[in-house]
Amino acid sequence: MQHYHYIFTGTGLSSMMTVYEMVVSGNFKDKSILLIDQNAKKTNDRTWCFWNQKNTFENIISKSWNMALYADSDAERVLDLSPYQYKMIKGLDFYTLILETILKESNIHFIQQKVIDFEELGNHCVVKTETQSFTCNQVFNSIFNPEIVKNQSKYPLLQQHFIGWFVKSKTTVFNPNQATFMDFSIEQKGNTRFMYVLPFSETEALVEYTLFSKELLETAEYEMAIQNYLQKLGITEYEIVEKEYGNIPMTSYPFWKHNSKNIINIGSAGGWTKASTGYTFKNTIKKSKALVEFLSTENDFRKFHKKDKFWFYDLLFLDVLNRNNALGSNVFSALFQKGNPTLIFKFLDEETTFTEDLQVIWKCPKWLFMKALFRRIF
Ligand SMILES: Cc1cc2nc3c(=O)[nH]c(=O)nc-3n(C[C@H](O)[C@H](O)[C@H](O)COP(=O)(O)OP(=O)(O)OC[C@H]3O[C@@H](n4cnc5c(N)ncnc54)[C@H](O)[C@@H]3O)c2cc1C
Repeated sequence: MQHYHYIFTGTGLSSMMTVYEMVVSGNFKDKSILLIDQNAKKTNDRTWCFWNQKNTFENIISKSWNMALYADSDAERVLDLSPYQYKMIKGLDFYTLILETILKESNIHFIQQKVIDFEELGNHCVVKTETQSFTCNQVFNSIFNPEIVKNQSKYPLLQQHFIGWFVKSKTTVFNPNQATFMDFSIEQKGNTRFMYVLPFSETEALVEYTLFSKELLETAEYEMAIQNYLQKLGITEYEIVEKEYGNIPMTSYPFWKHNSKNIINIGSAGGWTKASTGYTFKNTIKKSKALVEFLSTENDFRKFHKKDKFWFYDLLFLDVLNRNNALGSNVFSALFQKGNPTLIFKFLDEETTFTEDLQVIWKCPKWLFMKALFRRIF
């Protein structure tokens, strides 16, 4: 059986980012690394958006926006995102850039196989695919198993689920300088439902129907909602160039409890998805850097995770949304219609001080959050 220092089960965002950080650090040249994925990562299976101030992966940013619209059925607000920009990266551009960079290293290998099992056996681990078995010192797992969250009730699990159409309209209708961050002016039907629009030009945009809720919908329902919205925007003649769909876990479930000395869960499987928003890209940049730094002094993965106040805020937020799914738009409107966008983005980036936290939290419907707090405490 072939032996490696590190095996990455799943080679998507979090694995690629972690190995990229290892290469950039220059400290892992003597470690043999195997990346396994059932998919060749040669298709554009998703687009990532995130806000930031720095020049991160600047040469593969396909579009950025300085303004974003927030809307509900009563009002609209154009948010000036400065000093942030809202940026988009195509999944395929990221996979190509990272794989080209890391696979130049002679100690890093990628195979396309389906992982069927992995376990820790004393001081080493065994990884089994459909056709081969490997041993290694340590495993980085990013294969998400939703069952571990579904089989408990202490931490609610909502899903951020959506279908998006990349449309090309015959007439000029979109404002390419302004993304639609959340438009709640659509029927809520007892859930948290909004439209998300990323315009690339006056005639091209990604239009997404998104829910933060427990249950998925039939495909036809998402698509009908997109059609209705396009009609509302006055777009009657258009071509659907591509479609995207996703289902991102939103939960404060403590995934890190499943880490062992030699197996760590990373990415969505490790709780790197921000529970209250589903955003993962930026968190993954931070966590992968932190993990690579951690490895320079430690090798017991159980010591990696640190619980913080933001985990608890997200827990309360999900408790509120889980019990009062129809009130999601009220909570978001309380924040985005009145709050300071820069401070909200800083808060969502988990970079605010306690005083700043209170400035953001104070805008939220207090009775909903007080009830959630009391339920958690007692
Ligand atoms: C369509 C879409 C759009 C998104 N947009 C955003 C966004 O705008 N901003 C943001 O921050 N987040 C976004 N996300 C959420 C998040 O960033 C992504 O889901 C991200 O890819 C998660 O990274 P990961 O490493 O956890 O998982 P992944 O990137 O999904 O990597 C897991 C890998 O495991 C592989 N795999 C699974 N099972 C097996 C198996 N048995 N054997 C071998 N390989 C296996 C998969 O093929 C995959 O490559 C989006 C997600 C989706 C699906």
